[in-house]
Amino acid sequence: MMRLNKFLAHAGIASRRKCDDFIKAGFVKVNGKVVDRVGVVIDEKKDTVTFKGKIVKPRKRFVYIVLNKPKGVVTTASDQFKRKTVLDLIAVPERIYPIGRLDYNTTGVLLLTDDGDLSHRLLHPNYKVVKVYRVLLNRVIRPIDLHRLRNGIELDGKKTQPCKISELRIVDNGSLLEVELTEGRNRQVRRMFETLDYKVRELERISFGGITARGLAPGEWRFLTKKEVSLLK
Ligand code: URA
Repeated sequence: MMRLNKFLAHAGIASRRKCDDFIKAGFVKVNGKVVDRVGVVIDEKKDTVTFKGKIVKPRKRFVYIVLNKPKGVVTTASDQFKRKTVLDLIAVPERIYPIGRLDYNTTGVLLLTDDGDLSHRLLHPNYKVVKVYRVLLNRVIRPIDLHRLRNGIELDGKKTQPCKISELRIVDNGSLLEVELTEGRNRQVRRMFETLDYKVRELERISFGGITARGLAPGEWRFLTKKEVSLLK
């Protein structure tokens, strides 16, 4: 026995919460009857579930991938300008999607999966997944600005969470920093520095929830190990 939203999420339809929306919208039938209440429990061995008219088969195994995203690639499933997407770089039969996004010119760790529940959890602010970025600025950072950024600055009328920032070295007259964030607001790293009049010359994510892309050249990917998957759960 299993809740219907969990069954749908395990089958790779979407996250549990999104599946609840699909159920409420009347897209889901159990044994031929629309179920538009959430919280329904089904017998996954006996009941026939359809989503938008197609039978949903239970699937227990998900795929988890880490890509070392190169520059010049978009993190969406399809791009209206026909630019190359991260999915063009990965040949697997499963319908995977990226967990969050990296900007067109940001490089580094991008996770992809067909596990909607895990993806949803990792992106939820309550889980405070640690993301580590290497940031190269156009000039040397002033101590007062480091202090401000570490304590949190205003973005879109809301203060950023306090974060760790370490100064690594100076490269081509600009500071190379390591920034550790537990939030994931839109273009957060770039906008934090732009707010204080710095330009981000290079941005690389070196870790997401403890997963790194060490050993992978830009554009290369691999499956996560069981141990890595359990780190994320
Ligand atoms: N912050 C950004 O500004 N860009 C990214 O791609 C990731 C985090």
